[in-house]
Amino acid sequence: MIEDYDVVVAGSGGGGLVGALRAAENGLRVLVLEKADVCGGTTALSGAGLWAPANHLVLNAGQDDDLDKAQVYMDATVGDRTPRSMQQAYLHAARDTIAWLEGKDVRFSFMTGYPDYHPSEPGALLTGRAITPKSIRRRELVHRVQPKLPLGDGGPPIPDVGPDGPIWGGQSLITQLLTACEGAGVTVWTGCAFEGLLTDGGRVVGVRTADGREIAAPAGVLLATGGFEHDVAMRASYQDEVLHHDGWTLGVPGNTGDGIQAGMELGAATDLLEDCWWAPGLLRGDGKPSFLLFERAAPTGIIVDQQGKRWVNEGTPYNTFGHLMLQARDRGVPCIPSWYVLDSRALETYGFGGLRPGADVRPWLEDGTLIAADTVEDLAEKLDAPGLPEQVKRWNGFCEKGVDEELDRGAEGSYERQLLWVFQRYPGIAGPHEWPNPSNAPLTQGPFYAGKVVLSDLGTKGGLVCDEHGRVTRPDGSAIDGLYACGNAMASVFGHSYPGPGACITPAMAFGWLAADDMKAGQ
Ligand SMILES: Cc1cc2nc3c(=O)[nH]c(=O)nc-3n(C[C@H](O)[C@H](O)[C@H](O)COP(=O)(O)OP(=O)(O)OC[C@H]3O[C@@H](n4cnc5c(N)ncnc54)[C@H](O)[C@@H]3O)c2cc1C
Repeated sequence: MIEDYDVVVAGSGGGGLVGALRAAENGLRVLVLEKADVCGGTTALSGAGLWAPANHLVLNAGQDDDLDKAQVYMDATVGDRTPRSMQQAYLHAARDTIAWLEGKDVRFSFMTGYPDYHPSEPGALLTGRAITPKSIRRRELVHRVQPKLPLGDGGPPIPDVGPDGPIWGGQSLITQLLTACEGAGVTVWTGCAFEGLLTDGGRVVGVRTADGREIAAPAGVLLATGGFEHDVAMRASYQDEVLHHDGWTLGVPGNTGDGIQAGMELGAATDLLEDCWWAPGLLRGDGKPSFLLFERAAPTGIIVDQQGKRWVNEGTPYNTFGHLMLQARDRGVPCIPSWYVLDSRALETYGFGGLRPGADVRPWLEDGTLIAADTVEDLAEKLDAPGLPEQVKRWNGFCEKGVDEELDRGAEGSYERQLLWVFQRYPGIAGPHEWPNPSNAPLTQGPFYAGKVVLSDLGTKGGLVCDEHGRVTRPDGSAIDGLYACGNAMASVFGHSYPGPGACITPAMAFGWLAADDMKAGQ
C-alpha cells in the first residue's frame, strides 16, 4: 500500500484539479490519477464558460446580480428537482471558488453579452453572469493538456497562432490549474487509471489502480472521472434507445463511468442517469459530430425533420434543444436525425459547424457532410424530404413579415435574439440586419445545402447523489465516509436544466472545492 498521500483525486478535469488544489492548500498531500496520457478531459476541449452568479468579476462589470436573484432564477429553471440546500451550496461555493482561484493566479474575465439561457425567466440576466478564463500564450500551454480536436469541438479550425498567440477556454483553464497545482505540491500521474475503492469498516480509505497499485487516502477520495458517455453498456441500461452507442458524444473517450460504477458498488444513490448535457450535433462524413452552438442563433438556416418540416425554434439553447428533440420524436415527429438547411449566403456570411465564413465547402461535399443542390426542389428530392419546398416558402414569408408564426424564432428578449451581436460582428455585416426581424433571414440564394443534425451531448449529467459537502450519499441520505464526487460523476445540481453558459464545469469546480474543505474538516 502506498501511503504518501492524504487525498486521491481520480480524474483531472476542472473539478478534479480545483479539488486537488484546494486540498493541497488545506495542507493535505494530494495525488491526482488521470487515465489518459494528458490532463483536462472534456473540460480542456470546452469553451470554459463558467456560470458563477454574483462573482466579483460579474459585479465589477456592472451587472445587477446577487445570490438571491440567482436563486430566484434557479427556482424558475431548476425548481425543486434538486434540494434547495444543494442549490445554495452551489451558489455560494461557485462565487467563492472564483474569488479564491483568482488569488491563486488563475485568471478570468467577464463574458460580455452572453445571456443566461432562459432570459425571460425571473431572475435571469439578459446580459449574462458568465465568465471565462483569461487567455494564455501558446508557449504557456502545458504539454500534458488534452489537445483541442481540429473539428467536433464546436469551433472553427484553430489557426496556427505561433508561440505568443492566445489559447482560450478549457485549455487555458486546465493549464492555469495545473500550474497552480504544481506550485501547491500536488502530484499528478497521467496514464494511470483509478479502478476501485478500498474500504475499511464502511469507510473509503483508498483506491486501487488499473495497474494493481493500492494507494491510501485517509482524508478522502474525490471521484472526478466525468460521466459515462463512452460506456455503451451504461447508456443501454439508463438512456433512450437512440443513444445506445457512443458515436454522437463530444466528451473525451476516457469518460466511461468508472467513478459512478465504483460508487454504485458501495451502495451509493444515483440520479438523472437518463439525462445528458444535450448539444445538437452536425454529423460529419467521418461519422463524428460537430457541436452546433452559435450558428443556430444566426439569422439564416432552418432545421427540418425527415419530411422537410420545421419542428423546433432553431435558436433554442442547446440543452433545451435536446429535450425538445426527444419530446418531438415521442410525438412521432421523424426528427432524429433532422436536416439543417442553409443557402449559400448563410454559409458565406456566417460559416457553419466549424467551417469558417466563405471557406471552401468542397471537402464537406466530397465526404458527405453536406448535400448540395441548385434549387430547394432538387435538394428536397435528394433528401427525400417532400415538404421542404413548401416549408422554405413559408419560412421566407415569415421573414418578410418579421414574425415566425410557426415557432416564434427571434422573439424580442429570446435567447437567439440576445446572441445576435455575435453575428453582427462577422465580416460583411456592418450594421443592423436588413430583414424586419434580424434573427430571421430568408433562404434565397442557391446552391442550397443540407447537413444531418443528431442528438449529441457534451457528456452525461447523471451520477452519484451528493450532499452539500460533495459527500457521496446512500439512498437513505447518509454519507459514505471518505467518498466524494464532483463534475459529471455527480448527479447535476441543476436537475434537467441548463441555466447558463458554464453550468457543467462550474458545479464541478464548486463541489470539488467543497469536498476538499470537508476532507480538511474531517482531519
Ligand atoms: C465543445 C465543448 C464545449 C463545452 N463548453 C462548455 C462551457 O463553455 N462551459 C461548461 O460549463 N461546459 C462546457 N462543456 C461541457 C464540459 O466541458 C463538461 O461537461 C465538463 O468539463 C465535465 O467535467 P468533468 O470534470 O466531469 O469531466 P472531464 O473534464 O471530462 O474530466 C474527467 C477526467 O477523468 C478522467 N478519467 C475517467 N475515468 C478515469 C479513471 N478511471 N481514472 C482516472 N481518470 C479517469 C478522464 O480521462 C478525464 O480526463 C463543453 C463541452 C464540449 C465538448
